[in-house]
Amino acid sequence: MKEQKKDKLSGAAKATPKKRVSTKVKNPMGTSFDAVKVEKAPAPKKRTAPTKKRGDKLSAPTEKKSTPRVNAPKKTQEKSVLATEKHPKTKRIAPPKASNRNFEPISIPQTENSAIFDAADVLSTPIKREKRKAASKKQKAVKIIFLGGVGEIGKNMTAIEYGNDIIIVDAGLTFPNGEDMPGVDSVVPDITYLAQNRDKIRGVLLTHGHEDHIGGVPFLMKELNANTPIYGTKLTLMLTDNKLQERHIMGTLQRVVVPGDKVKLGVFEVEFINVNHSISGACALAISTPCGLIYHSGDFKIDLTPVAGAPIDFKRIAELGNAGVLLYMGESTNIERAGYTMSETVVGTTLDHLFSENMHRRLIIATFASNVHRLQQIIDLAVKYRRKVALSGRSMFKVVDAAVKIGELKIPEGVLIDIEKTKNLFDGELLIVSTGSQGEPMSALTRMASGDFNKVTIGENDTIIISANPIPGNEKMIYRVINNLYKKGARVVYESLEKIHVSGHACQEEHKILHSLLKPKFFIPIHGEYRHLKRHAQLAESVGMPERNILITEIGNCVELTENSMQLGENVQAGTRLIDGEGIEDYGTSEVMKDRLKMSADGIFTVALAVSGNYPISDPVIEAHGCVFAEKETQEDMLAVVRRAVDGFGYIYDKVDLSLAIRKALKNYFYKKTKQAPLIVVSVIDV
Ligand SMILES: [Zn+2]
Ligand SMILES: [Zn+2]
Repeated sequence: MKEQKKDKLSGAAKATPKKRVSTKVKNPMGTSFDAVKVEKAPAPKKRTAPTKKRGDKLSAPTEKKSTPRVNAPKKTQEKSVLATEKHPKTKRIAPPKASNRNFEPISIPQTENSAIFDAADVLSTPIKREKRKAASKKQKAVKIIFLGGVGEIGKNMTAIEYGNDIIIVDAGLTFPNGEDMPGVDSVVPDITYLAQNRDKIRGVLLTHGHEDHIGGVPFLMKELNANTPIYGTKLTLMLTDNKLQERHIMGTLQRVVVPGDKVKLGVFEVEFINVNHSISGACALAISTPCGLIYHSGDFKIDLTPVAGAPIDFKRIAELGNAGVLLYMGESTNIERAGYTMSETVVGTTLDHLFSENMHRRLIIATFASNVHRLQQIIDLAVKYRRKVALSGRSMFKVVDAAVKIGELKIPEGVLIDIEKTKNLFDGELLIVSTGSQGEPMSALTRMASGDFNKVTIGENDTIIISANPIPGNEKMIYRVINNLYKKGARVVYESLEKIHVSGHACQEEHKILHSLLKPKFFIPIHGEYRHLKRHAQLAESVGMPERNILITEIGNCVELTENSMQLGENVQAGTRLIDGEGIEDYGTSEVMKDRLKMSADGIFTVALAVSGNYPISDPVIEAHGCVFAEKETQEDMLAVVRRAVDGFGYIYDKVDLSLAIRKALKNYFYKKTKQAPLIVVSVIDV
């Protein structure tokens, strides 16, 4: 392994032969892929074809045929066009001409430009170009700016910048940690840097439709120029559009892609690569930059028997690896788990058993609404066992609606039934599919369990299947729900009992496969807390990556990447923004949050003092809420403290200064007496 790595590195250093390599891409693997590739081998001459405009891509199937790409055959391309036409909110158009305007470093010879649809060429041209440039002046670096998703799981967001071009990969949100952030709805990255550079931003690329990848899109789009396009697969964009509409952001440019599509954004060219995950339409990104290729894994697992769609595109990934990957950015969610993640179809088998074991009982299945393939398996089983399906939960309706519309989910007519109209059915004729697999307080399942969901009353003839595992932090909530369901006499099946859930993320052995196929020169683990990133770095080393070629990053880091170096540059402004209803606050500086924390921990104190002219005209009025120490004698003590502060002030020339003095005196008093720091509100009122 080590040996191979060395070869690869030295190969990458002399980039010029890459062109030749590219024509050999068809038989480099010595694997069973060879036969196919050789047949499809394009004539190298093709590269000299006349320049194509971006928009010509779809109408050039003859060229397409000769490319080695396996999962973007002519048919797929046509399908994509049709699908796009049906999608009312999206238009498939070539990126704005402007996207080329900043191709300043070197103008590309027409012959090379014409080859942008041949991946191998794409890989070789920028490096060659960069070589030429490097000879004349110091090499420019690609900047990779981490705005979220490193050192944490959630709110993934990365910007990639070169010269005058920036692309953004994902814009996620995360749910607040209740203890630090009371009352907050959600948390998104601080995007000051992007707002400041909005004119450079060529596009937003979404890997898939999970909250931690798209949830922040509305907050991002508010800050960007209105004509910044958003790219993603059908389901991803449909879910994103729901979010934009919820926040009243209309008229964004949304462009549907299918795996295999490539989009040109300034100096970058991005190819969407099919991967498996727990939502359909998940993609990795192969980002061609002037310094070399960056492979961004998105979220992925290897599922060779997916419920629908194709397995992860190993062939393409191997081709990219052979042509040369400069940097791999790989997700790390399940890096602590040994072995392989099971296939989604395993869940179907377990569920089938459960359906047949519970023939005469009412079934309730709680799962993630976004796992459309899981939903499909559940619906298929309902059909098989002749049950009607009632949906429950707002997000369940939304996702089912979106997925049915785009043909991702197939539900035969007459299967769905309104939950209000289920009273006349026998228990064995009904299946309820519900949200709330995480024990979310307002979800349908939680309310069923605690008896305040009037549409469904849980009883002894119910079997509840929780087809999900608790996201770390949610365990308490979900176990409370399970306890309540048991108390009502129901049967409960959850993950530790049966294989009713599989993860959407790769385990260690799958990661090793990815590293081995990509053979990257540099590696940055992403999508994980520090320990995940560290473990992923160790795994990369175990498959031959030198330690010095790996970087563990933090939010705000800017990594500078050239053809043969990777280092930390100057940090950019980054952090956490809190969303509360329509309001947005910066976490670090949020007074609202500081106040809420103080109130929730130690209560609130209000002091009102009436003054007339420059003198107090009454005793201060003190009120305490949520303070455990506010007994009578303490109140008198406090009054004395306030009086002393007022007296000490003497002549009242500034009401603000007076209230500050009172606050300070009380703060010291509380701290000495109770070691607590309640929120103190002082109002000095001129009467
Ligand atoms: Zn995901
Ligand atoms: Zn994710």
